[in-house]
Amino acid sequence: MSLDKEGNQPFTLDTGTLKHYRSSDIATRHSCGKCGATVFWEGDERPHILDVAVGLLDAPEGARAESWLWWETDFVSFREDGMPRAKALTEALESGLAAYGEHQRNRSESLLTLENLHVNDEKLDSSSK
Ligand SMILES: [Zn+2]
Repeated sequence: MSLDKEGNQPFTLDTGTLKHYRSSDIATRHSCGKCGATVFWEGDERPHILDVAVGLLDAPEGARAESWLWWETDFVSFREDGMPRAKALTEALESGLAAYGEHQRNRSESLLTLENLHVNDEKLDSSSK
């Protein structure tokens, strides 16, 4: 593998042990050639977009990789596919996402309130000088 002129390793779908196969008429899946872990999913209808298996990300805060990703919590993608096959799992994912979204919104409001207090403290400090 060669480096680009900035000394970076350019991303290609031939990186490491990555293997790919056509999983349907419209999609290609990419997985680790050593352990078989799913890495990417690529749909023909959306060229230039790769779905990434987020479980492979190594974010310091854990599997949700919240410092790198924003999570949609208002709906479950492909719900119509999940319901006939795994109704209980789909509904559990839905309620878990809703609860997580609510938790995140409450957390953001608390942080905004703390930010306001901090700004007000600075105003008080500067006005007392
Ligand atoms: Zn692997």
